[in-house]
Amino acid sequence: MNKNIQVIIGCEIHLQLTTKTKAFCGCENRFGGIPNTRVCPICLGLPGALPQLNKAVLEKAILAGTALHCHIENWIKFDRKNYTYPDLPKGYQISQFDQPICQAGWLDLQVGKTKKKIGIARLHIEEDAGKNLHTNTENLSYVDFNRSGTPLIEIVSQPEMTSPEEAMAYTQAIREIMLFLGISDGNMEEGSLRCDANVNLRIEEEGQYYATPIVEIKNMNSFKSIKQALNYEIKRQQKDWVLHRLTVQMVGKETRAWDEASGTTKHLRRKEKASDYRYFPEPDLKTVVLTPSYITSFQVLVGELPAAKRERFTSQYGLSEFDVVTLTTSCELCDWFEEAAKNCSNPKKVANWILTEINAWLNQNNLTINAFPLPPKHICELIETMEQGVITGKLAKEVFVRMLEGGENPQSIIQHMGLAVVKDEEALNKLVLEILAEFPQSITDFRAGKDNALQFMMGQLMKKTKGQASPAKAKALFLERLQK
Ligand code: ZN
Ligand code: MN
Repeated sequence: MNKNIQVIIGCEIHLQLTTKTKAFCGCENRFGGIPNTRVCPICLGLPGALPQLNKAVLEKAILAGTALHCHIENWIKFDRKNYTYPDLPKGYQISQFDQPICQAGWLDLQVGKTKKKIGIARLHIEEDAGKNLHTNTENLSYVDFNRSGTPLIEIVSQPEMTSPEEAMAYTQAIREIMLFLGISDGNMEEGSLRCDANVNLRIEEEGQYYATPIVEIKNMNSFKSIKQALNYEIKRQQKDWVLHRLTVQMVGKETRAWDEASGTTKHLRRKEKASDYRYFPEPDLKTVVLTPSYITSFQVLVGELPAAKRERFTSQYGLSEFDVVTLTTSCELCDWFEEAAKNCSNPKKVANWILTEINAWLNQNNLTINAFPLPPKHICELIETMEQGVITGKLAKEVFVRMLEGGENPQSIIQHMGLAVVKDEEALNKLVLEILAEFPQSITDFRAGKDNALQFMMGQLMKKTKGQASPAKAKALFLERLQK
């Protein structure tokens, strides 16, 4: 990028909240299903139906705002945003206009090695609209109101991002926090997380500064499309500036849609202004007053966020980047790991065990770590037995299976099964000699440079000891004989 051109990006993210019921009625809040089966007079906007605020919506919004270091308003009011569209039967959306629940926060962002704070201008509560379904074949459109009244938070950043990579990282970081705190499932394909980006250029020419018209890009439904759409738009604005020299003062804002298929943005409309929506206070909802102690109680619920955990896990436990990234996908997984690692001599092995054996079991059974039947301290004990050379990794997997079957602690299973690595050197030596006598061809092969001959003899030894030999010790004994 030409150093006389600065890119300015701000993001607006809509997130559907994972509450049991919708924002202002008792209808179930979930994605999909048979159209128009989860509707009632309130979310259909029938005359006379009165909305009531779902407390869980308020809680999740405050939690999100607290995680983003926002000031939380102590009295909550709602406004009507008026517009007409077939998926909006009331003719208005319940939203928050002049007094969003959360304001003036920030997000700590890391892009590559660079750290940066991105300001959060506001975060407010609103409701989702229904969904128009257009058919290609029948020349008809249908409306599904199942989504109507789904609770949303809208998070508006300051225009402080300076590249598509930053905008993408910002959206990923927001999503990660919201997932971690159980605020939203962040599923972009299902529309739980929708990002609109505002972008324009600040151009310096001979000491004069010009700002190109701000473009709001809609319809980006993956992280990849956020990056691609912004890259395209930055180039388009550069070309457009050379051709038409239009500034934001001359034409204001424009709304464009990202078209995945063609890889371009297309003009939708001139951007509406707030006054176009004729906002006014929602008369059907009461004002909610929050006490200071209620607001501060959310600090504890936020706790340590994934980015901070990653840093701490790396330095405190010496975990790899892969380990920390995978562990911090869920709050429960982090807690479970720390519980298991706290008395363990090798925390790295604990992390490995969770991310391979335990995760595999959870995936097979379609469960999360909350439903894992073994206590963390038993995994710690199992790993300690391996660390002390009592059992091999292979046997540990067998013990693990038995632990899951019977819920016993690893020590007693090892005793019951009579499992312990044959460490007795004399016994092992005898077996090694037996095998060498039995397979003279393997000795010849090994000396001819065929490494798999050793593998074969090791296999024979494992067979004789039912897998209980220490592989390192056995290998050393074989080599000692073979290299003579
Ligand atoms: Zn309803
Ligand atoms: Mn909105």
